[in-house]
Amino acid sequence: MSRIERIQKAKNTYPLDVVAHRLGLRTETRGGELYAVCANPDHADRHPSMNLSMRGKYAGKFKCFVCNARGDVIDLVALALKMTTPQALDWLDGESRRAPLPAPRVVKGPNVQPLNTDLTSFAQAAYTRRSDAAARWLVSRGLASVMDLFRLGSTDAPGFDVALLPQNYDRENGRIYQHKNFLNRVVIPYIDPVGVSYVNARALGEQKPKYLKPARPQGGAVPPYLLHMMLEMSEQIFVTEGELDCLSLHAALPGVAACAVPGTQTLSERDELLFEDREVIIVMDNDDAGIKARAELERRLLPYARSVTQAYVHPDFSDVNEQLVKRGKKWSAGYWEAVRTEAAGKKVYRTAL
Ligand SMILES: [Zn+2]
Repeated sequence: MSRIERIQKAKNTYPLDVVAHRLGLRTETRGGELYAVCANPDHADRHPSMNLSMRGKYAGKFKCFVCNARGDVIDLVALALKMTTPQALDWLDGESRRAPLPAPRVVKGPNVQPLNTDLTSFAQAAYTRRSDAAARWLVSRGLASVMDLFRLGSTDAPGFDVALLPQNYDRENGRIYQHKNFLNRVVIPYIDPVGVSYVNARALGEQKPKYLKPARPQGGAVPPYLLHMMLEMSEQIFVTEGELDCLSLHAALPGVAACAVPGTQTLSERDELLFEDREVIIVMDNDDAGIKARAELERRLLPYARSVTQAYVHPDFSDVNEQLVKRGKKWSAGYWEAVRTEAAGKKVYRTAL
């Protein structure tokens, strides 16, 4: 039998799902499609991201939506066990005497201190002590109507309790300390069912950086801003790039379900699952970073979401907040209402940049 015949025979003999189980890959069915934990040893997949196509045009093919590994059943074995094609064929046929077991999956996390796991007291103090200067700044950004709804606060009041500030970790001396650069900022709390899991703090003056985020809790992931609250509200979810853009959508269209993913690199694979069966509308900034973030988010959410629509702020503006400030609430409301309607009609709403 030639090698090509042998490959063809293996493809006909060994179904993808059976082989995935032989390789010890956990599988699950979502939306009628079969997914397995990715076979690529270099991809620490914690939930099944790899589609196993069991019927139709791509029957017998697998594809990972995260690391883009793809191929047929022989490639799957070769990938999982780091084998050549002949070795993979031998393994499938049971001819390999010492069939190796898949290496245990070790999910490596950065060795960081468990800091800032609960910032509820900090956010609460910032909200109750919000200064007039901070309120004026929020009003100037068009956010008057949402600053209480979403508990926006500030740390510029005289005598703000330093002991409540988010912490930092000094690797040199192993010391944990309160991060005083969080003073004199607007505080945007990430409100979720268990309290405040994270904050972003925007400079009120000229201090750098403009946005200051606390050291992340173990694992490095940041939850999408307001997502848990929004999941209760609608099947259709807007995803913006920044928290202020998300708040601007809420100000323009009261009752809209909008969350923010400020930085796709801090979005955990676990949180991708929260978008399961939602109609996702992505609105990133009109710049290079925004274009990159759009593509990345579409790739990561497409396996879970019912639909993913790319929507854009008007090309005259760089982000949702600028559009709100410069064109006003009424104009913005009409604009986003049109986007929402187009997306609900399952049309992909794209305006050329
Ligand atoms: Zn993968």
